[in-house]
Amino acid sequence: MQALVRRIARERVAQCANEIDRSADYPQDMFELLREIGLFTLPFPLEYGGTASLLSACVAVEELGRVCYNTAYLLVVQWLPFGAILAGGTEEQKQRLLPGLAAGTLRAAFSTTEPQSGSDVSGIRTRAIRADGGYRINGGKIWCTNAAVSDFVLVAAKTGEEGGGGSINLYIVERGMPGFQVGRKEDKMGARGVPSSPLFFDDVFVPEANRLGPEGLGFKVVMEAFNQSRPVIAARAIGLAQGAIDHSVEFVQGRRAFGQKVGDFQGIRWMLADMEIQTEAARQLVYRSAAMVDAGISGPELAHAAAITKCFATDVAMKVATDAVQLFGAAGISNEYPINRYFRDAKVLQIVEGTNQIQRNIVANGLLGRPDRR
Ligand SMILES: Cc1cc2nc3c(=O)[nH]c(=O)nc-3n(C[C@H](O)[C@H](O)[C@H](O)COP(=O)(O)OP(=O)(O)OC[C@H]3O[C@@H](n4cnc5c(N)ncnc54)[C@H](O)[C@@H]3O)c2cc1C
Repeated sequence: MQALVRRIARERVAQCANEIDRSADYPQDMFELLREIGLFTLPFPLEYGGTASLLSACVAVEELGRVCYNTAYLLVVQWLPFGAILAGGTEEQKQRLLPGLAAGTLRAAFSTTEPQSGSDVSGIRTRAIRADGGYRINGGKIWCTNAAVSDFVLVAAKTGEEGGGGSINLYIVERGMPGFQVGRKEDKMGARGVPSSPLFFDDVFVPEANRLGPEGLGFKVVMEAFNQSRPVIAARAIGLAQGAIDHSVEFVQGRRAFGQKVGDFQGIRWMLADMEIQTEAARQLVYRSAAMVDAGISGPELAHAAAITKCFATDVAMKVATDAVQLFGAAGISNEYPINRYFRDAKVLQIVEGTNQIQRNIVANGLLGRPDRR
């Protein structure tokens, strides 16, 4: 599987990566390529055509991320809603939506973030008020990645009136539902090929059959399931770091200064060695967390390992990509060379899917308990 994805990444993806980043156009051809080779199903149960192996999924993301962050992202962005429905959906929802997501005939997005609340999901203001046969959703979201090309979005909304109690649930909001609009995409520094957009809900009627899981419980189930997908996020980071090393090794062997290859200066060689050491350490964490998921380990033990992995691997990606730009000298700043793309994409990884401060909170809570619960 690794050999197959590596070959496809090199032969069919690598040459498109710069243009996807430059144009910030959605890479429909890459989506179709991933669909053609059947990668969307990878981590999921055998009945959806998958391998039930998160480790395989991580390896595929790593190999694609090594040459093109955006193409690797196409897998991850499809897997989040798939995992959410698998964990928290009713049987009817699973049958209705999962085969299409697995085959790549449906696309979806996941949306919690609002202008006033990102890390603090409990602060969301979007409301789902009970109506005859379902709910009426009002409010707005930001930074919803993939929404612009999605058939439906899993939207977090609170029941009850603003200021009162209420619980958070996810609702399946379908493209074309009256009152639902996707706004203009963000002009981003990194992750440019997969659009992130604001969402607007103006009295959108969502039938009860589109609430994910039982009222008040669905969201919790889904958030716990996200511990299982965290190794995949981190796999993007090790792919990115490895790609930055690949480019750096090639550059320092071709560039000369003071009458010798820059790759012969000890200072440069040790920098590259450190980049490799950190990336390999991160890779072992990613593979270990993925193997824990595959072995059925869950709960606090997995949450702890997954947070350590996401935080360490994405911090390593940032450090390695920063050093790679340094190794390129001025060429590292030039858009003629690919390396600053790795630097810009790495920064995104420290912020998305739970910032690295939030990951550190999870780790510290595992050690000390939560301060608000003592
Ligand atoms: C490219 C991209 C794609 C995204 N895609 C999606 C998507 O598809 N769906 C979606 O719902 N969201 C998405 N997001 C939003 C992302 O999940 C949030 O940006 C992230 O959760 C952080 O929220 P925030 O930006 O509001 O920062 P804030 O929560 O306002 O945090 C600001 C700073 O304070 C820190 N901080 C916050 N709370 C604590 C704390 N308790 N302890 C220590 N530090 C803290 C943060 O780490 C951060 O450094 C995306 C963001 C980006 C950049």
